[in-house]
Amino acid sequence: MQELTLSIIKPDAVKRDLCGKIIQKIEDGGLRIKGLKMLQLSREEARGFYAVHREKPFFESLTDFMSSGPIMVAILGGEGAIDKYRGIMGATNPAEADSGTIRKEFGLDIEKNSVHGSDSPENAEIEISYFFSKLEMVDR
Ligand code: ATP
Ligand code: MG
Repeated sequence: MQELTLSIIKPDAVKRDLCGKIIQKIEDGGLRIKGLKMLQLSREEARGFYAVHREKPFFESLTDFMSSGPIMVAILGGEGAIDKYRGIMGATNPAEADSGTIRKEFGLDIEKNSVHGSDSPENAEIEISYFFSKLEMVDR
């Protein structure tokens, strides 16, 4: 089934100029970029995006990190895009991620793990509309 998912290249990876290498892995993995932009979240915007994690012990640190510098957000599309992208990203903790995955190659630690990907169709829709208007997505 053709799906959409939201990708974020996190501040740790943007700072290290890894966007090109990460996009290469996304495209090589069979996903297509349908929307793309750079922005920097305020602390409040990061807290809004990660609201599902607000009770977690890492919430403050995570939202400080996510608002600490520019991010690159993208809408990715393809067959089974949500699971496919989670496979390309690898496990949350880079130390446990499979070789060849984005997090294994570029992630620094369990928090600064270079990328985000939606985890369900419902969340993909919410997350895409958090960042993109209809005019900012192409059909391809
Ligand atoms: P993401 O939602 O970013 O794609 P994920 O679904 O693999 O990652 P989640 O459990 O949703 O992982 O956690 C969201 C993010 O919170 C992680 O990507 C990571 O940046 C951070 N995080 C998760 N667990 C921890 C932890 N134990 N300590 C610090 N940060 C964490
Ligand atoms: Mg998640």
